[in-house]
Amino acid sequence: MKYHIITYGCQMNQNDSERIASFFDEKGFTESSEEDAEIIIINSCSIRQSAIDRIETKIKSIKKSSNRTVILTGCVLDKDKERMGSFIDYYWPPQDPSSWNLPHFKEKEERAFFEIPPKRSGITAYLSITTGCDNFCSYCVVPYVKGKEKSRPSKEIIEEARAAVKLGHKEIWLLGQNVNSYSGGINFPSLLKEINNIRGDFWIRFTTSHPKDLSSDIISAIKNYKKVAKYLHLPMQSGDDKVLEKMNRPYTTKEYREIVEEVRKEIPEISISTDVIVGFPGETEKHFSNTVKLFREIGFDMAYIARYSSRPQTTAYKMEETIESEEKKRREKIIEEILKESVLQKNKSLVGKTLRVLILREKKNGLLVGKTEGYKNVLFEGKKDLIGDFKNIKITHGSSWGLRGKINRK
Ligand code: SAH
Ligand code: SF4
Repeated sequence: MKYHIITYGCQMNQNDSERIASFFDEKGFTESSEEDAEIIIINSCSIRQSAIDRIETKIKSIKKSSNRTVILTGCVLDKDKERMGSFIDYYWPPQDPSSWNLPHFKEKEERAFFEIPPKRSGITAYLSITTGCDNFCSYCVVPYVKGKEKSRPSKEIIEEARAAVKLGHKEIWLLGQNVNSYSGGINFPSLLKEINNIRGDFWIRFTTSHPKDLSSDIISAIKNYKKVAKYLHLPMQSGDDKVLEKMNRPYTTKEYREIVEEVRKEIPEISISTDVIVGFPGETEKHFSNTVKLFREIGFDMAYIARYSSRPQTTAYKMEETIESEEKKRREKIIEEILKESVLQKNKSLVGKTLRVLILREKKNGLLVGKTEGYKNVLFEGKKDLIGDFKNIKITHGSSWGLRGKINRK
């Protein structure tokens, strides 16, 4: 039997899919293209209504053109589960293999989800360190679809990281909705220390950091542990205190600014990215202009800008939507334009510098693509067999897309 997994949403889902893949492999199934597969697993995302709509359309089109088995798993709200129940074959609760069944399986799975080794490929090894979330930001569906925050035991994580390094992965990417509150026996800075101590040449990245929990200890860990990439993803969501309060994000813009200042003072070369939501219920022109102001002032290296999408079960769902879709688009565009300017400026300032780059893949035009520690794309000429290596690249050009460079032969 052949199976195919379609993954939507975040890197945590990506990592979950890798475990689902090895679960199937161990049972004697073969991973295949979508066309050839007899079983299709949809690992779903519910963050925005548009994501779940897309998933529903996809399942319907699979079912219309063939009679293949469709299994739905991942982040799905009860309401969507019920609606889609009539046209999927199975719903598998995420991360609970004991309840995953198919007529082809003889025995019930005894192992816990994280005991199933992920089937990894590529240069980066994604590694979930927590599941769920306790923060209940008012717009967000995650606590309702993934439950309470749980930290995996540190021992298990360190073993998994060690195994990934041994297999040749050059980047260990720790994942959690709020990794800063990790508490699996040791705290997050100690976990970074332990992973930093694993022998080998690799980078450590982590997402996501909640500003309320980014302590000075974590900042010191990023600064002092050599393998921790000097990169921080720090979602601000809004630049207005009133909106932050309504979002149930328990920090002020003043505090956000101070954290960024501290981070930059300690680690001047660090690159910082963020998430912003535009068009939250009640976001006035004045509130939005505060977001514009803070966003411009900070000058991010990268940002993900989302138009607010009302999600059932969340507390913001009950708030009246006041911003039209066209207006959300307009606000999104304004932030995007500022982002382009700040990225251009930052990337230009790197011209002439030599940066360590992890080489990830070859583009169609034959150029190699790599990432800097700050998670910036670099394009340069080189042989394909360099993929997976670290190289020093001299930056020759910076644009709002990324960097161009040359391998430094010295
Ligand atoms: N735990 C992480 C990421 C959660 S989801 C964090 O706290 O940042 C990733 C991003 O999706 C969020 O940062 C937010 O910007 C966006 N998002 C979440 N819910 C949303 C919604 N209902 N509408 C629009 N964007 C949303
Ligand atoms: Fe959602 Fe907030 Fe938790 Fe992030 S921290 S997953 S935005 S509830």
